Amino acid sequence: MSSPIGGMLFSYYLICPRKAWLVRQGLYMEQESEDVALGRLLDETSYARSEKHLDLHATAPDGTPLVGKIDRAMLRDGVLHETKKGRSCQQAHQNQVRFYLWLLKLNGVTGPGGASYRGQIDYPALRRSEAVSLEPAHEAELATQLRQLTSLLESPHPPQRLGKRDFCRKCAFEELCYG
Ligand code: SF4
Repeated sequence: MSSPIGGMLFSYYLICPRKAWLVRQGLYMEQESEDVALGRLLDETSYARSEKHLDLHATAPDGTPLVGKIDRAMLRDGVLHETKKGRSCQQAHQNQVRFYLWLLKLNGVTGPGGASYRGQIDYPALRRSEAVSLEPAHEAELATQLRQLTSLLESPHPPQRLGKRDFCRKCAFEELCYG
């Protein structure tokens, strides 16, 4: 069986396929990134009374094992929360939350009254939140992206680096990619 695909790896793929490939090779450098440390600190300080962290496992329709660690699940309200520092990768963040909602759905888990769970991205530094839903078209898109990601991870060579140096300056792999 192939290694599970996690929500974070999936999000990396949407931001930069090369980053997802490097992380899968074991080159995980985010712990050295101040940005990530700040993000963690924001999560810990802004939501001291947060509810539950969830670890989810599911199997995608094509048989790929999936895992997800959800920041905060407010189970009574049927809302999954994901905390982010800024909105520069908004689309990837939305699809990461949809990935988690998909995991719940694949497990047959529903919220209060049988309703589907809803997602919410919280930006504590911006004092903003954004609602995220999972529609059938999103599920089809997730399945397609997952197939593309699993195919990419099987490649013996990494994809080309992004052509956006300014964006790459925030990435822990910058030296590796441009060094
Ligand atoms: S430095 Fe740029 S190209 Fe390299 S992994 Fe990071 S985002 Fe991708």
